[in-house]
Amino acid sequence: MNSTLCLTGLMRGELLDILNHWGEKPFRTKQIWSWTHCKLVGAIDDMTDLSKDFRQRLKESFYFCRPKIKLRQVSQDKTIKWLLELEDGLCVEMVYIPEDDRGTLCVSCQVGCSLSCPFCHTGTHRLERNLRVAEMVDQVILARFELMAEGLRVTNVVLMGMGEPLYNYDAVVKAVRIIMDPNGLAIGSRKITLSTAGVVPRLADVGRDLGVNLAISLHGVHNEVRDRLVPLNRKHDLTALKQAMLTYPLKGGRRITWEYVLLEGINDSDEDARGLVRYLKGVPSKVNLIPFNPWPGTTFVPSSMERIKSFQEIVGGSGLVTVIRDRRGGDIAAACGQLVG
Ligand code: SAH
Repeated sequence: MNSTLCLTGLMRGELLDILNHWGEKPFRTKQIWSWTHCKLVGAIDDMTDLSKDFRQRLKESFYFCRPKIKLRQVSQDKTIKWLLELEDGLCVEMVYIPEDDRGTLCVSCQVGCSLSCPFCHTGTHRLERNLRVAEMVDQVILARFELMAEGLRVTNVVLMGMGEPLYNYDAVVKAVRIIMDPNGLAIGSRKITLSTAGVVPRLADVGRDLGVNLAISLHGVHNEVRDRLVPLNRKHDLTALKQAMLTYPLKGGRRITWEYVLLEGINDSDEDARGLVRYLKGVPSKVNLIPFNPWPGTTFVPSSMERIKSFQEIVGGSGLVTVIRDRRGGDIAAACGQLVG
């Protein structure tokens, strides 16, 4: 292992402090930051406006730990999935979803996942470790760098890849702050969404520390059903979750996104739809209905599009904004819940 610091895991203020300590002027931090977060270089020697001596000095303290691309797959619908190899050889997946007016990057925060939601393919892989700050920031840097040549932009980031972001909280907070830095990657809080299975004691922190959009994986409105689909519910049940959302510090005009994957015969009845409407009462909400993405070996069955539409009519009919999420990247196993690394 390297005893030096991973450069992209630092906040700009931290770099400033270190260089200050060395007796360097603040503009050095600006220069370096612009190389790493704007010009997206991956080596200290690429920072050509720094003297050789200064670069040498930097190399003694910092290095790049950018993940290596092991595999890149492009879907028929232009969704791109990368398999990334980390320094210790473990792998995570990252997905890019291009749309007409934006480009969304789906970032992973853990290798594997500890939640074991039975309908999610990632859940079949035990948690290996948390990602470090730099390993999350580098996903954005790497994607921007890779897509630049093709004229594709990363405008939005969703923490919806492998892992539970609220179980790697400190690193996620720092990575998101770095990603939001207006002098660097500059992706604003409205363009970032953190998706959680509902780690209730942490929810208010997200609002206070980050102010990014919050998506909650609900998937069931009866504890018996949700206990099974999202085992975390046995610890933090629907009542506790609702209570936390009623007091959540939501920024003006924003809503909580509720993710609801539709599984045939399990949570997709008209009665479930009415239950969902009742459950969300009082919380400014928008509902994302997710068609189940099957994976090899799963026993869950996707609801028919007819069923999903009928579910949507009931929920939407109550006045809640309700969208059916596009099934993007299904042919390359890049869709929700298909990431296994
Ligand atoms: N751990 C976090 C983020 C990762 S999952 C969370 O639970 O929110 C991102 C979303 O994909 C979650 O809503 C998850 O429930 C959903 N998902 C998982 N497996 C899926 C599958 N096979 N089909 C459709 N959506 C799935």
